[in-house]
Amino acid sequence: MNVTELARRLKVPTKELLETLPELGFDIGKRAIKVDDRLVDKIIRAWSERKRRASMSEQEAKIKEVKLGDKDEKAADAPVVKIPDTIVVREYAEILQVPVNKLMIELMKNGIMATLNQAIDFETANIIGEDLGFKIERLSAEEKEAAAAVGQDLKLKEIIRQRAATTDRPPVVIVMGHVDHGKTTVLDALRETNVIGSESGGITQHIGAYQVELNGRIITFLDTPGHEAFKAMRSRGSKVADVAVIVVAADDGLQPQTIEVITLCQKENIPFIIAINKVDKETADIDRVKTELAEINLSPEDWGGKTICVPISAKKKENLDSLLEMILLVADVEELKADPEGLAAGTIIETHKDKNEGPVATVLVQTGTLRLGNLVVVGDVTGKIKAIKDEYDKNYDSAPPGKPVKILGLKNTPEVGDVLEVVDDIRLIKQKHKHKHMSSGSTITGASSDDEAEIPTLPLILRTDVVGSQEAIIEALSKLNSDKTRAKIIKKGLGYITDVDIMEAENSGAMLIGFHAKPSKSAEQLARDKKITIHQYEIIYKLLEEVKTELDKIKTQQTTRVELGQIKVLAIFKTAKDHMIVGGEVTKGKVTPNTVVKVVRNGETQDLGKLAELQSSKEIVTEVAAGQQCGLRYNGRPIIEVGDTLEVYQEKTE
Ligand code: GDP
Repeated sequence: MNVTELARRLKVPTKELLETLPELGFDIGKRAIKVDDRLVDKIIRAWSERKRRASMSEQEAKIKEVKLGDKDEKAADAPVVKIPDTIVVREYAEILQVPVNKLMIELMKNGIMATLNQAIDFETANIIGEDLGFKIERLSAEEKEAAAAVGQDLKLKEIIRQRAATTDRPPVVIVMGHVDHGKTTVLDALRETNVIGSESGGITQHIGAYQVELNGRIITFLDTPGHEAFKAMRSRGSKVADVAVIVVAADDGLQPQTIEVITLCQKENIPFIIAINKVDKETADIDRVKTELAEINLSPEDWGGKTICVPISAKKKENLDSLLEMILLVADVEELKADPEGLAAGTIIETHKDKNEGPVATVLVQTGTLRLGNLVVVGDVTGKIKAIKDEYDKNYDSAPPGKPVKILGLKNTPEVGDVLEVVDDIRLIKQKHKHKHMSSGSTITGASSDDEAEIPTLPLILRTDVVGSQEAIIEALSKLNSDKTRAKIIKKGLGYITDVDIMEAENSGAMLIGFHAKPSKSAEQLARDKKITIHQYEIIYKLLEEVKTELDKIKTQQTTRVELGQIKVLAIFKTAKDHMIVGGEVTKGKVTPNTVVKVVRNGETQDLGKLAELQSSKEIVTEVAAGQQCGLRYNGRPIIEVGDTLEVYQEKTE
């Protein structure tokens, strides 16, 4: 990128930029014309950090001090964790050493639907971190560089794995080696000889992985041989394979690709087993292979070294059980565990589009249990699991950790290596937004006007390119709030506008805003399908102008609620995720269905919902008057308790 272009982006004169870069640790020369593209992001981040620090006035610093001083002892003892301006959810979980699921649930509670690989900004991370009992601080530019250099994340990953996981899971094995040494034959032979129990004779389908059994123990094989697939997964940051089998033909010995995959495993810290194949051949020379291994410091076990070598004949299906035994031995040393509870997450190992089935993907479940009906997000793709099948096309209701399964129900095909995650709570979030929306644009006759929830509110979903512009917009938006209307950001994020944003905009009725942020291809299509407008801006004042216009609209379009009556809750008959069936007595006025219900406990409003159906003496009725008992279906968050008062309102939009 040209230096002038970068200066323009950073809104700084080119000269000043060039003079300041060395201070930030970027020595590109005072007369440089171009900046290496790989450095651009780093410079932008370092620059905004510098700006942020400079702009943090003394007063703000003082406020922070006071706030910190106010905290109770527990907070003072809280472990301090330093993070950069933005951090990817998965990495954040690793740094905090909490299971990713837990962190995601915490995010969801705050209305943020970030995916595993999405970045959250410092403010969000700070709130979540404090909720989890940490004290979060911002990394300085120098610390950031240092942290990256240490590469501590791998170590942390190991700790997390052990902390969160308690249940044994099958090892996941990848087969690699030089071309023609027999990878495919080994994979086929294993699949045929060690099928799981009842499946023998079943017709297998290629789904990218399969499972075999030895002495009641299961092993998962990725059946796309070759290190390209392996590399693709690594580049997306997911470590899928636990053990590698490196196939070496006994008549050909170590070849360039053999050395390459050995190096790859050593670099990635993946234990490997050498399968010396084709021992049935007359020209086979097992000792030659062992000598060559010893020459590169990989002495075989039977020669006093540490390298496990198993001679096999894939073609004649000989000694394959020994190979499986060795895999299990290695797996035992690794203590492979997973947590089958909670929301599932896994890695996509194969995808394609099927004429009849639509987008098809194979996912290797790595934590939690994947279930039918789960709502999932894979990168930019969303979906609802409609079918879970194994390599025999057998249907399942669920898949535990370590199991590779073919799934149907995705809206689009994701990429191999993408992380799939279940977002089971999306409905709760939708529900929450619905409620917020119900209270927007309304004034309640006879209700206290100081109730913040009663001020007409315009929900917003905001995506920006960088944290700096996000902060500026939030600050400017807060100035538009008045006691008549307010704009409320229900979700904010960096980067592309995603499918989930569109879904949430639809459910919450929020105005979806992109500032220097575009929708992903699938989100664009989804928005078109759902007729959701994406408001894109390049200039802040334009954005503010339009938000103001929307706020004026909701001010004039107010809804009046007239109280019809009140019900005292006497019994709870059913509590579901999004509704309740309760019984009570009408104590005032008369109530009718299709009305708004305010749940009041000890004089305080708890929530708003809808009175969807009314019953009296087991009959569905349209009205129940004071003095009579009734049953009703309440649509909303299931929070009603015996003794609560339900105030029933008729809504009128003017
Ligand atoms: P890949 O390129 O590593 O996947 O190798 P293949 O599995 O396609 O095998 C290459 C060739 O070696 C094929 O012709 C196989 O039939 C043959 N082959 C594989 N395993 C054995 C074995 O154990 N013994 C013999 N004699 N031939 C084998």
